[in-house]
Amino acid sequence: MPKIDHTPGDDALAFLVDQHLAPTPENYTLAYIALTDPGSPIGQMVKAFNSDGFRLRQTHADEIVRLHLAGSAQASASPDHAQQDALRHQAIKLGEAASSAAAATGAFARELSEEAGTIGGEEARTVKIVARMIERSKSTEIDLNATASEVAALRQELEAARDDAQRDQLTGLGNRRAIDRHLQRLAKKGSARVLGLCDVDFFKRVNDRYGHGVGDRVLKQVASSLANACAPHFVGRWGGEEFLVVMEGGDKAAGVAMLDQARADLAKREFKLRENDQPMGQITFSGGVAVATGEHADSVAAIHRADAALYRAKAEGRNRICSD
Ligand code: GH3
Ligand code: MG
Ligand code: MG
Repeated sequence: MPKIDHTPGDDALAFLVDQHLAPTPENYTLAYIALTDPGSPIGQMVKAFNSDGFRLRQTHADEIVRLHLAGSAQASASPDHAQQDALRHQAIKLGEAASSAAAATGAFARELSEEAGTIGGEEARTVKIVARMIERSKSTEIDLNATASEVAALRQELEAARDDAQRDQLTGLGNRRAIDRHLQRLAKKGSARVLGLCDVDFFKRVNDRYGHGVGDRVLKQVASSLANACAPHFVGRWGGEEFLVVMEGGDKAAGVAMLDQARADLAKREFKLRENDQPMGQITFSGGVAVATGEHADSVAAIHRADAALYRAKAEGRNRICSD
């Protein structure tokens, strides 16, 4: 029989029989590489497992194939290898991210549970602070309300004081300052004004006969009578037993009529002594009327004209109204 030439394939199959390994394509490839290229990684590993009389077990063979053959076979077989790797890496990263997130959450939860007591304390402190803030805001509100009331009271006092500063103490009418303000306001407004200057007739006699106390009471009565008769027009105490009536507008005749009515009202009143009801006789006044139209200076000039008219009323017998 002719002798068949010995081939590496024969040796590979013989190796598999010797090692009690099944003649699978993977085992055959492994044996073939190990025998033909003993210095290769596969040859080195086979030699390592097969040394000292130990047989190469199938688990070892599978391991060597997995490490050195399957990978390269898969790499060459799968064109999507890079893509799969990318997917795998993404999965790994996602896993890592998930686990680190979980770890972080866990750590946070741990911190929370560990710090629970402290956080509770903080909460309690926060509640106290908020309560204090509410309390403070409430008390601030109360303070603000109180301050607002105080301010309102002070404003009233101030207005009262300001009012006092413009009010005649004895009669309660506007004083010279109030008269001046009123006239200034009308001039600024551009309003004409009828000015009626009134002077109580023979008032010195009242003082002389009944005393200044009675004289004061008479002055009060004259003031209220004049104010009532001229309402709602402005009436102020010009000084002493003199009063100034201011009517807005330029109707001098109306001013004269109004003042004459006031004069008549006072003249018909019966004045009696409070102490003994003794009649005091008639109390009258005389008046001079003038009209101012321009600026405030014109009011001053008109008062001079009214005073001149008043002087005439006195000269003509008193208890009458004259105009310029
Ligand atoms: P005539 O008709 O010319 O005006 O005479 P009369 O007496 O009113 O004139 P006169 O101006 O001389 O007198 C005014 C008096 O008014 C003088 C003053 O004592 C008095 N008098 C001024 N102010 C007051 C006051 O507030 N109270 C009292 N009781 N008398 C006053
Ligand atoms: Mg007088
Ligand atoms: Mg007088």
